[in-house]
Amino acid sequence: MNNWNDQFDLLIKSRTPLIFIRSGEEERVQSLLSQASKRLNQRRLATWDYIEGLQGILNSESLGARQPMAVLQWLQKLDPSKPTILLAKDFHRFSEDAGISRMLRNLSSDLRMKNHTLVLSAGDWSPPSDLEESITILDLPLPKEDELKMLLSNIAKASESILSEDILEDLTHACSGLSEIRVRQVAARALAQRGCLSKEDLGEVLAEKRQAIARSEVLEYCETNSTPADIGGLDALKNWLDQRHAAFSDEARKFGLPLPRGVLLIGPQGTGKSLTAKTIAHSWSMPLLRLDVGRLFAGLVGASEARTRETIQRAEAMAPCVLWIDEIDKGFGGDARSDGGTSQRVLANVLTWMAEKTSAVFVVATANGVDRLPGELLRKGRFDEIFLLDLPSSQERHSILKLHLNQRRPDLGFPIKSIVDRTEGFSGAELEQTVIEAMHFAFAERRELLETDLILAASQLVPLSRTAKEQLEFLKKWASTGRARPASLKIV
Ligand code: ATP
Repeated sequence: MNNWNDQFDLLIKSRTPLIFIRSGEEERVQSLLSQASKRLNQRRLATWDYIEGLQGILNSESLGARQPMAVLQWLQKLDPSKPTILLAKDFHRFSEDAGISRMLRNLSSDLRMKNHTLVLSAGDWSPPSDLEESITILDLPLPKEDELKMLLSNIAKASESILSEDILEDLTHACSGLSEIRVRQVAARALAQRGCLSKEDLGEVLAEKRQAIARSEVLEYCETNSTPADIGGLDALKNWLDQRHAAFSDEARKFGLPLPRGVLLIGPQGTGKSLTAKTIAHSWSMPLLRLDVGRLFAGLVGASEARTRETIQRAEAMAPCVLWIDEIDKGFGGDARSDGGTSQRVLANVLTWMAEKTSAVFVVATANGVDRLPGELLRKGRFDEIFLLDLPSSQERHSILKLHLNQRRPDLGFPIKSIVDRTEGFSGAELEQTVIEAMHFAFAERRELLETDLILAASQLVPLSRTAKEQLEFLKKWASTGRARPASLKIV
């Protein structure tokens, strides 16, 4: 946070006239500005909002209530001998007005001379193009661990509850990714219920986090309990993931290894890409955040970039975590001419973040094909590795069928070789479907599942590989040129 304070102080000292702080945490912004005003030689802090008008300046209380232009005029005429920071709340909403927009531009040169600063703040706004040059943007990240620790121990002190160092550590860790106000709400609830902060609050914090993710529109907090034992085959991929998991340790850092970045999984439908993403998160004990690329692009022009920023910020604050970008080919395969270049810009933001990120956010991107994937994504170095998940070999079909049979009818003794032979070209999902279908046949007659049920179910299913043959051939040919590694140890 010191870093942020330093950046803000520098902007004030260098007489930056208009600052836009990008943050949805209004109270925290005000408190940070109040601390800054004290640090900066008693510079005054005033606030304005549409209902209350001006606050914090003697003799001018309530000035400009319901009159946004009036407060700008006040600032323009303000005595230069009393350097002032004015935090104008919700002011971005008026920026479309021609008069306000003009006035803001005029102010950007006037205020520089008078040593006053106008600060606007909002979570999801981008300055319109005619104001871009006049406004300096400063992002305020969600609270970092040291701030959260301080906040929690202050809350505990204020409520006279004893908080051991261990619990404080655990709570701090759990709260990362939450805004200050949410942390205060969780703490207030805990204090009201139990009179102290304790280990029991961890569950509440997790629930709050899930809600915070739910509010984010494009991110979904996925529950998962899949383990590598739930995946049949894909051994090369599983081995590789084991290695990467170890690379998250402190020991690996000391050894000089960089933090793992992510993996791109390409393959036809039902080959276990989603299952792998879920397994990684669960077996690495990390939360799984699923990014809905479609929703990233929904709505107003310009909103996608704001949403991308917010998503990245949330994922970083949740680190260590797995960020699963599902169907990346559908989202970023957009046509630049039809979407005004939005998908290109968002992709560029994501790629820059992936290249520069230093946080433990492991990206798992999944795609059905490569024809719509932008070349930049496939370039070496973007992901740690690209894997092709092909249709399972006979050996893999055997283990997948066994897995699904064991999960549902664990005591069956019959051999499954003939079913393995009859399911060539089936995906993992289709094998699972075959087992379920066969179980329906048996259940309808209230008897145990037989080999013949499975044979019948397999004969009735038309695998996708038969209908999408060409697409599959194309994918395999593409991968065989060394651009992707096979996820299975041996492709038969
Ligand atoms: P899509 O491209 O349609 O999203 P996908 O590759 O993500 O498909 P999954 O959703 O992971 O496929 O697979 C669907 C289901 O099929 C899984 O939940 C799992 O039950 C089963 N399945 C797929 N592959 C395997 C596998 N290798 N081992 C065990 N089960 C599998």
